[in-house]
Amino acid sequence: VNTSDALARIAAIVGPAGVIAPRDAQPLLRDQRELFRGEAALVVRPASTAECAEVLAVCHAAGLGVVPQGGNTGYCGGATPFDAGRQVLLSLTRMHRIREIDPLGFTMTVEAGVVLAAAQRAAEEAGLLFPLSMGSEGSCQIGGNLSTNAGGLAVLRYGTARDLVLGIEVVLPSGGVLSELKGLRKDNAGYDLRALFLGAEGTLGVITAAVLKLLPRPQVYETAWLAVAGPQAACELVARARRETGDQVSSAEYVSRRSLDLVLERLPEARDPLDVAHEHYLLLEIAATGDPSLVRSRFETVLQAAFEAGEVRDAAIADSGTQRAALWLLRERIPEAERRDGGSIKHDIAVRIGRIPELIERAEAELAPLGAHRLSFYGHIGDGNLHFNLLPPVGVALEAFRERTGGALTRRVYDLTAELGGSFSAEHGVGILKRDELEHYKSPEALRLMRAVKAALDPRGIMNPGKVVG
Ligand SMILES: Cc1cc2nc3c(=O)[nH]c(=O)nc-3n(C[C@H](O)[C@H](O)[C@H](O)COP(=O)(O)OP(=O)(O)OC[C@H]3O[C@@H](n4cnc5c(N)ncnc54)[C@H](O)[C@@H]3O)c2cc1C
Repeated sequence: VNTSDALARIAAIVGPAGVIAPRDAQPLLRDQRELFRGEAALVVRPASTAECAEVLAVCHAAGLGVVPQGGNTGYCGGATPFDAGRQVLLSLTRMHRIREIDPLGFTMTVEAGVVLAAAQRAAEEAGLLFPLSMGSEGSCQIGGNLSTNAGGLAVLRYGTARDLVLGIEVVLPSGGVLSELKGLRKDNAGYDLRALFLGAEGTLGVITAAVLKLLPRPQVYETAWLAVAGPQAACELVARARRETGDQVSSAEYVSRRSLDLVLERLPEARDPLDVAHEHYLLLEIAATGDPSLVRSRFETVLQAAFEAGEVRDAAIADSGTQRAALWLLRERIPEAERRDGGSIKHDIAVRIGRIPELIERAEAELAPLGAHRLSFYGHIGDGNLHFNLLPPVGVALEAFRERTGGALTRRVYDLTAELGGSFSAEHGVGILKRDELEHYKSPEALRLMRAVKAALDPRGIMNPGKVVG
């Protein structure tokens, strides 16, 4: 099949509503951080699994690359196509049906293009909780969440996207459909095929639907913004709160003063909830059921003990939904504050939680001699995951900073993370941005197995070419 015939056949499969005209496709061809500007031979939006399967069969026969795209909020350029002649961008946005909610089984079957916030709302309307949550939830999609194994703000309690899925439906590169949507809690019949596609970033197939786990909805949230003595105290406090609340901690987010300052400077609506400035903060939240006054008093008992142990120095506890939102704003809008400041070089790193204090201390000391920079670090400390971001010195443009010192600084951050037994990619994946890091930091055995999996599932190499190990 020659390319132009194949493209015409694909356009016929999806019909006029399924083809995005080149002038409207521009936003889909740029990644959300604007690091990459892509090109595609065609941008299509199939409306069903059957259409998606037909499209892939044609691409497979013609050897055309297929780049799946969800909400295009990914941080690693994974959803950007890079070939104006031989790659098709396949957007899942038209596949946004909630297929089923099973309140007895606590599951929800959704199509891949359902936006995360819509999935949360559907669960809420059924009186249940879908706990995956992150700053991009208004645009990112379930298919993208599963394909990046997204983490977010409640991993400590509920796990990553991988932990929240019971089954998936995938269109394979040849156009076949693997349907594992039984929604069973127990099914040990053979290999866990679903695991291959979770976190594969679209390099093995297109996820078209999933059975998600739902949970009982907590009735009471308690949220506190705490000035802590330091990173070690923050880690001790997370462990204390987990022990003393029966593991009801739903979020434990660390914020450095430097990140808070950026938010206070760049977002007019942001207010420091405490009177005195501190160097280190923890946003701690518990989610519980039962009598709200009992939940509050248990939360206060934990915080009191933490005061006495010297872990906490000052605290603001939210007394209303509005106050809770004002505290969360200080954490969730850090990426936006960094962007308004001119942008940052981002590092999304993970170590065991106990090694976070050493990571921060050594990173500050070891980066200092490598070139002028400003730090902004914050993140999901309860998961051992920090966003360790570097901003150019005041007056220097991000691009110049990236070119001059960015490489050396990034190398030190990742080397140090590796020395401490950590990962250069905690939750954002690899995409195209971190391919070299994968090559550098993964063991030869792990790389060999990843390539073997890729070759077995996608022998013609059509799925998301050039990404991860492709
Ligand atoms: C403000 C903000 C906050 C964020 N916070 C977090 C956070 O806390 N935690 C976190 O983990 N991430 C976070 N992210 C990153 C991003 O939102 C997540 O990675 C999200 O899961 C990506 O979903 P998406 O639908 O936008 O995927 P896209 O960006 O469209 O795609 C991401 C990757 O998945 C592949 N893909 C997408 N859909 C499919 C599919 N149906 N089948 C196969 N492959 C597919 C793409 O090819 C690409 O490789 C944040 C991003 C922003 C902008």
